Amino acid sequence: MTRRCSAVGCSTRDTAQSRKRGHSSHQFPTDSIQRSKWIRAANRVDPRTKKIWILGPSALLCSKHFQKSDFESYGTRRKLKKGAVPSVSLYKVYLGVNKSKFYRAV
Ligand SMILES: [Zn+2]
Repeated sequence: MTRRCSAVGCSTRDTAQSRKRGHSSHQFPTDSIQRSKWIRAANRVDPRTKKIWILGPSALLCSKHFQKSDFESYGTRRKLKKGAVPSVSLYKVYLGVNKSKFYRAV
């Protein structure tokens, strides 16, 4: 099963092809404070209850949502810096407007 980015409105998939193009995918942090920062940044909030969604264990965000300075490079590999929070290409969810097509189950 192909995993895809959990950000609202983003359709990047975690595939060998997307990795070749320089995209990487990053699992949500296990640290609860850091995790809630990511969830807020990704706008994963239920539009009806306004509560934060419970993400599945395979939820991830692609590298499009991070700045270059959020990464550390190790040769050809790169890794997110500790404490990095997604801040790029994140869509705002306007409550009350029918944007349900942007929501996808993880
Ligand atoms: Zn994405």
